[in-house]
Parts: sequence; C-alpha cells; structure tokens
Amino acid sequence: MRNYMPDVTVVGGGPAGSLTARLLAASGRDVVLLEEHNEAGVPTHCAGFVSDDVIQKMGVRPNIYSTICRADVKLPDGRVLEIGRKSPIGFIVDRADLDAKMVDLAAKHGVDVHMGERCTEVTATDAYVTAKTNDGEIKSDLLVGADGQNSTIAASWGNNMAREYLRGFQMDVRHTMDEQDRMILRVGNDIAPGLFAWQLPMGDLTRVGVCVSPNAGTPAEYVKRLLKNIGLADCKVEQSFGGKVPIGGRRTSVNNRVMLIGDAAGQVKPVSAGGLYPIAVAAPILADTVSKAYEMNVFSTAVLALYERGWKRELGKSLDGGMRLRKMYCRMSDRNLCAIAKIFDTPEILGILSNIDIDDPTTVVKPILKQRGVKSRLLGIYLRSLF
Ligand SMILES: Cc1cc2nc3c(=O)[nH]c(=O)nc-3n(C[C@H](O)[C@H](O)[C@H](O)COP(=O)(O)OP(=O)(O)OC[C@H]3O[C@@H](n4cnc5c(N)ncnc54)[C@H](O)[C@@H]3O)c2cc1C
Repeated sequence: MRNYMPDVTVVGGGPAGSLTARLLAASGRDVVLLEEHNEAGVPTHCAGFVSDDVIQKMGVRPNIYSTICRADVKLPDGRVLEIGRKSPIGFIVDRADLDAKMVDLAAKHGVDVHMGERCTEVTATDAYVTAKTNDGEIKSDLLVGADGQNSTIAASWGNNMAREYLRGFQMDVRHTMDEQDRMILRVGNDIAPGLFAWQLPMGDLTRVGVCVSPNAGTPAEYVKRLLKNIGLADCKVEQSFGGKVPIGGRRTSVNNRVMLIGDAAGQVKPVSAGGLYPIAVAAPILADTVSKAYEMNVFSTAVLALYERGWKRELGKSLDGGMRLRKMYCRMSDRNLCAIAKIFDTPEILGILSNIDIDDPTTVVKPILKQRGVKSRLLGIYLRSLF
C-alpha cells in the first residue's frame, strides 16, 4: 500500500479521465490518474470527428487530418443530400495524439499519472474508497470511474448497464479522397442498420467505418462490404479498430464515493455515437461537485448526486431526445429513409442541415418540422413504419 492518500483517484486515462483529473487538480485537489496501458490513446476506437468547441474544451491542439466543411449523405436509392457551409462543420483529429496530449497536460497540472497501472477492484467504506490495482492499492476520499465502454466499475454496481450498446468498426486505407473537406455518410439497412457509415478524408488515408445496432451482425463485415462497393477493397489497410458505444446513460452515475463519466456513464450521443462533447460538458460539473463536497466536508452519495443532476440538466434533453429519434430511425425501411430524404431535399431544409451543430444534432429537428407540410408528411411515414 502507498503511504499517501490522494483526494481523488481517477481510473482511466482517456479524454474523460484526463480532463476530469486536470480540472480537479486545477481546483486544488491532489489527484492520481490510473491508466492500464503504457501509452495513452491506444488502442484507438474513435473516428476522431469533433467540433472546434470540443477541441477548445479539451485544452490541447491535436494533429488534425482534415477540416470538414461539406457532407454528402447517400441514400440507398442513389439520392445524395449535399450539405455544407464556408465555416468548418468539424475536424477529423488524431485521437491517439489527442489522448496523449491530454494526459501530458493533466500531468503538467500536477496530476500524478500512473501509466500501466490497472484498477482491478473498487471498494468503499464510510471513510474512504480503495482502488486495488496490479501494483497495490490506493485509498482516497473519492474515485472517478472513467474506465470507458466496458466499465467494470459501473458494472460492479449491479443492474447498471447502458441502455444500449452500438457496435462500431473502421479501417484506415491508403487512398486519397478527391476532396479533403468533404465527408461521405451513408445510410440504409444493408449499409449500416441502426446508424450510418462514414468515409472520411485524412490526407493520403481514407477512414471507412460503420456503427450499427447491437443485433445487426459483425460491423467489420459491413465495412469490408462497403470498401468493396466503393472500389477501395484493394487498398492497403493501415489500421483497423472498433468498439462498443454505450448510449442512453446508465441507471446511475454516482454511488458510494464514486462518480462515473464518459463512456463509463453511457454519456454518448445516440444519433451520432459522439462521446467527446458530453465529456467536455460533464467534466467541469463533476469537478464543481467535488469542490462542493470538500467545502462541506461531506462525501455522501446525496452530495455526489449534484453531479448527476447537473450533467442530466445539461445533456439529458439531447441524450433522451436522441434516444427517441433513434428508436424511430431504427423502424425505418430503406424505402422510408428514401422518402424522408426526398422531403429533406429542398434548399430550405438543406440550409438547416448545413448549419447543423454536431455537438447537438437534435437541434435541427424543430426548424425542420416548422417547414410547411413537413410534419404531416413525416408523421405519415412514421405511422406507415409501425405496420
Ligand atoms: C468506432 C467508433 C467511432 C467513434 N467516433 C467518434 C467520433 O468521431 N467523435 C466522438 O466524439 N466520439 C466518437 N466515438 C466515441 C468516443 O470514442 C468515446 O465516447 C470516447 O472515447 C469516450 O472516452 P472515455 O475517456 O470515456 O473512454 P475511453 O476513451 O475508452 O478511455 C477509457 C480509458 O480507461 C482505461 N481503462 C479501462 N479500464 C481500466 C482499468 N480497470 N484501470 C485503468 N485504466 C482502465 C482504458 O485503457 C482507456 O484508456 C466513437 C466510438 C467508436 C467505437
């Protein structure tokens, strides 16, 4: 056992863990960060598509592969919805580089970073919480579970799985897309049942990936088929990776001196599988809650629940709205998807979509529904999908 006791132990050196650890250290807390791998950010399981706001909030400048100003959404019937604007919609960043720089920045803020140390068990008493690791154990006042998609900390509370787990997979192949500011998204039940497929420009590489519903089969097979369909099957594969995407939140994100954040808390946007923006929003709320707990010198679950209420206030509407949209989307046959795309293929709606905020894509819904005749036509398609 170590002979010192930090205020907070953070388990997981991904963006959720390193951002939270840094904010806690900046607010004066003594923080230990445990990351099971020797290197931050690997293995990567992210397309790396983020907004400028997220990059700012993460506090580092990661390597940027491309700046996306346009997106083609391709439908099964061949229709293409072209959206775009002069200012960037988002950036494709190097996730491994982002993660590594965030861990370095946390260390610069005084976080005691333990690479290669895996937390194997968390137990709490009235007086402290203990993280058992492959190198002994660490006692602290509080612990943050930022241990990602397969969070064993969240699972150890029982009946605390995320509402749904999407499955993602992607390959980086040696191929240069003609336009480096345009990404291609594809929808359709043969392409990516339950979400969508992406084709992203990354200089002399192209990233091709899918995210699909949990019962849709192996995502890698969808990617291989897509590569074949778009003529990239013979390109050299530089790397491939995948993972689960826990969406819809969990029953609880606080319990007995422990708080969950990021994938561990299921804080991922259901309509885009984006997890970095929710982390950027939740981490400061978590750090504020910890400051309040220290001010009061009370570390009860009731005090930690301020964090849960706070992040749900900020993100709940978008995550719950996203789950509802997703439920409707999953009912759609290809015919229905094409019918919706036909309705959307007007200058007004393409204009609305072009101004999308990728951090909260659900905000396009209201303005689209306000367009003349759109609500009733969409309702008709939805009702047809029920039978
Ligand atoms: C295919 C795919 C594409 C995606 N694309 C995007 C995208 O374009 N944009 C976006 O915003 N989001 C995307 N996401 C989601 C995003 O990658 C995640 O939401 C994000 O990585 C969550 O960060 P995190 O810190 O919570 O978890 P992670 O990044 O998974 O980090 C968790 C860390 O904890 C460590 N760890 C786990 N258990 C332990 C333990 N017991 N002890 C010590 N360390 C431990 C792990 O090694 C890991 O480093 C994508 C996800 C997938 C699967």
